[in-house]
Amino acid sequence: MSFKIKNHLSLGVVAMLAGLSLGHGAHAAAGPHTLRVPGQMPASRTDEASLWTIMDGAEQVAKASPDRIKDPALTGYVQSLTCRLAPEYCKELRVYVLQRPAFNASAAANGYIELWSGLLLRADSEDELGFVLGHEITHYAENHAIETQRAAKLRSNVKFALSLAVNWTGQAVAANAGSVQAANDSVHTASAIKELLYLGNIAAYLQYSRVNETEADQAGLERASLAGFDPRAAAGVWRKLIDENQASDFPSRRNEPVGSSIFSTHPINSARMLALTKAAQGAVPTTPEQAQERRRAYRRQIRPFLSAWLADDLRRRDYGQTLLVIDRLSSLGEDLGVLNFYRGEALRQRRSDGDLAKARAAYLSASLYGDAPSQAWRNLGDLALRDGNTAMAQSAYMTYLGRAPNAQDRWIIDAAIRAMNTAAGR
Ligand SMILES: [Zn+2]
Repeated sequence: MSFKIKNHLSLGVVAMLAGLSLGHGAHAAAGPHTLRVPGQMPASRTDEASLWTIMDGAEQVAKASPDRIKDPALTGYVQSLTCRLAPEYCKELRVYVLQRPAFNASAAANGYIELWSGLLLRADSEDELGFVLGHEITHYAENHAIETQRAAKLRSNVKFALSLAVNWTGQAVAANAGSVQAANDSVHTASAIKELLYLGNIAAYLQYSRVNETEADQAGLERASLAGFDPRAAAGVWRKLIDENQASDFPSRRNEPVGSSIFSTHPINSARMLALTKAAQGAVPTTPEQAQERRRAYRRQIRPFLSAWLADDLRRRDYGQTLLVIDRLSSLGEDLGVLNFYRGEALRQRRSDGDLAKARAAYLSASLYGDAPSQAWRNLGDLALRDGNTAMAQSAYMTYLGRAPNAQDRWIIDAAIRAMNTAAGR
């Protein structure tokens, strides 16, 4: 895995992953430009074939995951970007979009790519997404996973990962054979793998060396430029993650040195950012209008998912970060009903000093736009009632019911309105 923001709730598993980590210092056996031959499969009984077995198992889990987004428009879109970046590998790269709030993407040795919604939500434009995908495709094209696996000091970890995969693939066999104990063991192992996948993704076993990361940055940027993406977007991706880290509600996260806090294994050092900025220097400048149009085009792709992904992001309970993400998304000047509503949600849930007043203001802003969810009025009503402003509460509740006549909580709202009327002697 190359891109990942640590989830605060998952430190235990992150630690477990760190324990499994294959670490740095892989031998750069294959040079930076030894590219995989399109369509090539590993020979049987090789270390590469073993790695494929693990990744085939991981792919099956991703494929069957309830988190997988199967929307044909979105999956077709990311698959088409992948093919644009790597026409030579178009047929063998399979992209799965998973609805998970962390910033994460990875390309496995067998050609399956995971793209998490937290990354899609944070990309500002197709150009940024193009760079991230280009980076991941480079890990695949340059066989970084197998290089890493071959590093001698990592063997025992790979052996362990393999044993997990063998158990995992053994699950179906055991179930068919009717062996309850074996099936239970396998189910247990499968759920352990699923947990690893959810929190860190199995490619985390294969933490690439710094050399590989730099290669992936450079070749990924080249790929993106050749495919017509704006190369200046690349450094911006890292910058954003650093800013987001600083916006965290958790001091422990803010106070971590920037270099080590964003990616547990791959520090974004200034040299890496500088190299990307430098590599993009010769690019034809984009006018502000063109840049805006590119952002709009990208927003059209993710618009249908904004609400669900923002709701997911709130589940991380790092409201400072979510608010920064919302500010960025709002700067385009579109989707302001949805975005202001979720700004209100973040503030209402955080409840620090002054947050409820700010939440009310955010819901009110949301209510001015056609795309505001009905829930904005429901929450406005609740806040007004809390402040003893029954006139405003009643009006907000009535608007809510008018907009969502079949709301499941209709009876609660009806009762609240009745109670207010009774109290007012109506
Ligand atoms: Zn990487």
